[in-house]
Amino acid sequence: MKNNYRGRFAPSPSGPLHFGSLLTALGSFLDAKSQGGEWWLRIDDLDSPRVAPGATDAILRALEAYGLEWDGAVQYQHHRGEAYSAAFHALQASGVVYPCACTRREIADSFTGQASSTIYPGTCRNGLASGKTARAWRVDTRGAKVRLADRLQGAIEHDLETLSGDFIVQRADGLFAYQLAAVVDDAELGITDVVRGADLIDSSLRQVYLQQLLGLTTPRYLHLPVAVNAAGEKLSKQTLAPALDLEQPQQTIIQALSLLNQSPPQVLAHASVAELLDWAIRHWNPAGLPPLRSLEPPVK
Ligand code: GLU
Repeated sequence: MKNNYRGRFAPSPSGPLHFGSLLTALGSFLDAKSQGGEWWLRIDDLDSPRVAPGATDAILRALEAYGLEWDGAVQYQHHRGEAYSAAFHALQASGVVYPCACTRREIADSFTGQASSTIYPGTCRNGLASGKTARAWRVDTRGAKVRLADRLQGAIEHDLETLSGDFIVQRADGLFAYQLAAVVDDAELGITDVVRGADLIDSSLRQVYLQQLLGLTTPRYLHLPVAVNAAGEKLSKQTLAPALDLEQPQQTIIQALSLLNQSPPQVLAHASVAELLDWAIRHWNPAGLPPLRSLEPPVK
């Protein structure tokens, strides 16, 4: 048993937790606890325009109702501006980021015949055109081949220049991008294992690259399948996923465990939340997880 395991759950407070968030929370919690590890909670409230009033409290209440007790104090990204700024200056000092003056409109207009592409074409890599002012800062991804040995999805390798293009680390509104903040926070807390949804695989590749540029250790990754609706869309606030029912958490936990192929036995049908989680920690079987990027929960 590894006892230096430290995992985390990092919801964005753009709304209350839904079934899709529970799959991720439960998966990361069980993976940590089954290995005698710690499980920390970070509220990704950096993107202040997207923070919904009351969402942080609703998330904390839902985790409590579902018995998902976190270790240590809750971490908040809005307190961490100085750390992000220091990492950003380190990237600037090593010359791997550059200012970009392009507006969204100009980037969209530069795609002729390839209207659906959103990959930034590298316009400002060699300096700003005269009369232009810097808006955002981007990472130069030329030659960045990144490999990720995912515990569930297997080996993933991509060329960042074609996957994401030169991505933003500081936005035009001055906020640091999630990619940079997540890397700095995970490193600061000494996170050894990141267990989160497969919709973030492309983000993870960018984050691994930032870890390399900043000389930080890359944690182990396990990307769980994300819950989707019948139309194949990720459950989210945008797709109108209902908030978790806080009155009957047992039923929802059993449903989540079943979907993750953890096969909770019938006798648990009337168990308490604590008994259910205790069983699930003792029987957590990552090898049994479905090696998929998405899953559709049965409609109740
Ligand atoms: N807060 C982000 C999300 O909820 C990122 C989570 C993470 O880094 O695990 O999608």
